[in-house]
Amino acid sequence: MKSVYEIKKEICEVGHIMYELGFVAANDGNISVKVSDNEFYCTPTGVSKRDLTPDMIIKVDKNGKKLEGKLNPSSEIKMHMRVYQERPDVNAVVHAHPPVATAFTIAGVDLDQYILPEAVLTIGSVPTCEYGTPSTMEIPDSLLPYIQNHDAFLLKNHGALTVGCNLNKARFVMEEVEFNAKICKYAMELGAVHEIPNDQLVKLMELRKKMNLPGRHPGIEYDEEPANANEELVATITRKVLEALGK
Ligand SMILES: [Zn+2]
Repeated sequence: MKSVYEIKKEICEVGHIMYELGFVAANDGNISVKVSDNEFYCTPTGVSKRDLTPDMIIKVDKNGKKLEGKLNPSSEIKMHMRVYQERPDVNAVVHAHPPVATAFTIAGVDLDQYILPEAVLTIGSVPTCEYGTPSTMEIPDSLLPYIQNHDAFLLKNHGALTVGCNLNKARFVMEEVEFNAKICKYAMELGAVHEIPNDQLVKLMELRKKMNLPGRHPGIEYDEEPANANEELVATITRKVLEALGK
């Protein structure tokens, strides 16, 4: 098991990576890690992800209330807490503003093209959640229709949120979302987006099952009906993968 210091250090490292990749500017974004049902470590408000050091990391309870730390948690911690509440399998959440993926939400273009095998395997389609005012409950609420079937979410006119069974996984999903968006944009600029054919998507889904990858995927059916399943969710579950699976 990791020590508290190691967890804090890992949060800082992911913050530095988000900054270096240009996924956050100024003091944008936030990162959190769950250590027990009522203990979470998270980044503070008002500090650039580039400048994070372990002593700045705060401990909060399941309501986002500070338990330990000199600085204060971000008001956006509410969306992290909503994820932990709805998804007991999640142990880390990353929120950033990756520019290309965010631009898709501004242009009103869905990030649901199946163009790269790695992205199909790991994230599938990425839903765009309804716009919400930062720091209010509007953003946590906007995640609800999609939260049970995805590990990556775009926040309309805002950014992206990714989750994982550990921090590295949540970070990789964030990187994959932006990389996929970038390649898709390049293909659009070249004039055509040719998606991976349905029969090949079926093979990728079979591979995912065989690899027993952690996390949720919109192309996989879960034994238990997701708690928040509704018609909107069903409509967003990757049309093409479902078609390919012959549903
Ligand atoms: Zn934000």
